[in-house]
Amino acid sequence: MTPELSLYFHIPFCRRKCGYCSFISYTAREGQIRDYVEALIIELRLTRRPGAVIRTIYIGGGTPSLLSAGDVERILDAVRQYYNVDSKVEITLEANPGVVDEEYLRKLRQEGVNRLSLGVQSLEDGELTFLGRLHTAADARRTVDKAREAGFTNLSLDFIYGLPSRCLTDWDSMLDGIIALGADHLSLYGLTLEPGTNLGEAAARGELPAVDPDRAASEYELASARLSAAGYRNYEISNWTKVGFESRHNLVYWQRGEYLGLGVAAHSFTDERRIANTDSLDGYIGALASGTLPKREIETVDEPGALSESIILALRLAEGVSLDDIGRQFKIDLWSRYAAEIGELSAFGLVEVSGERLRLTPKGRLLGNEVFLRFLPEKLMI
Ligand code: SF4
Repeated sequence: MTPELSLYFHIPFCRRKCGYCSFISYTAREGQIRDYVEALIIELRLTRRPGAVIRTIYIGGGTPSLLSAGDVERILDAVRQYYNVDSKVEITLEANPGVVDEEYLRKLRQEGVNRLSLGVQSLEDGELTFLGRLHTAADARRTVDKAREAGFTNLSLDFIYGLPSRCLTDWDSMLDGIIALGADHLSLYGLTLEPGTNLGEAAARGELPAVDPDRAASEYELASARLSAAGYRNYEISNWTKVGFESRHNLVYWQRGEYLGLGVAAHSFTDERRIANTDSLDGYIGALASGTLPKREIETVDEPGALSESIILALRLAEGVSLDDIGRQFKIDLWSRYAAEIGELSAFGLVEVSGERLRLTPKGRLLGNEVFLRFLPEKLMI
């Protein structure tokens, strides 16, 4: 067990369900926030790992900015009570534009939150309405300004590409606006129309065109070129950063570091075990009120699984994966084992070899799943 640990707190409350959202989140349940925060703190105490040092904390959701500043303070105070917290800890909170004011943001900064992630999604009001968002583009711009005034020097913004109504020229203009916002970090996600979501159901009924993968790919390529020219580095498939603003918390996931996930539907990874919490809000609060951990699934990752995860997760990163390092760790010559796959993927232009590293090409970033398939555990015989 590593003494370094990251914490993720899931806040599953939202004012309204966005049309594309398949995350676990509850609407019209804000009256339970106080009990929920209490349950989070009990879970933190019960899952405490003595000796661990907290390097990153991420409060995500849902809509964490529905917590009061006092609730956030209670959670962070509890972390400091149960753990040693690194002096350079990264503490991220996700927020939605329009629901936070400058005073709230100032309080967050005073409590130690030093990274703000805003779900902007689009800078066009018609698109925001289509997506089911409750804020406008003007709200997003105002919130960015307020965050800077409140002292946030590490600001990340989320956007969605591949909307059915959008043409490449619209996206090019929107990229001007995105770059002008001057965020330190950007996450760009392709729209997916999942079954069970409002937009997914509308598409299934034929009321909405399906996402056009070729146009989504063109938007991604255009974004890559524009953001690179603006000084951002595409350090992970969906993430861009200015120098020194990589998400340290998300790097823990991609580098297979250990983390505890606290809250409804949160996932943990420690000692090669993956644990998922119940996705029932009442079940979660009730279990912790009676001193029981609300675990739903526990999976032990075996050696082929661990090797597969190490390769696939690292391939998401711009620097790719060192097959020498991972091969040494698992005592296997990965260059020989995967010679056929690497040769084929290289011929398709999806991966490239640089020294001891294997990494995705720009085309491979668009077709990552085609690459990852070749490294799944059933392909391995350790
Ligand atoms: S705010 Fe986020 S979590 Fe909540 S419904 Fe919208 S996309 Fe889902």
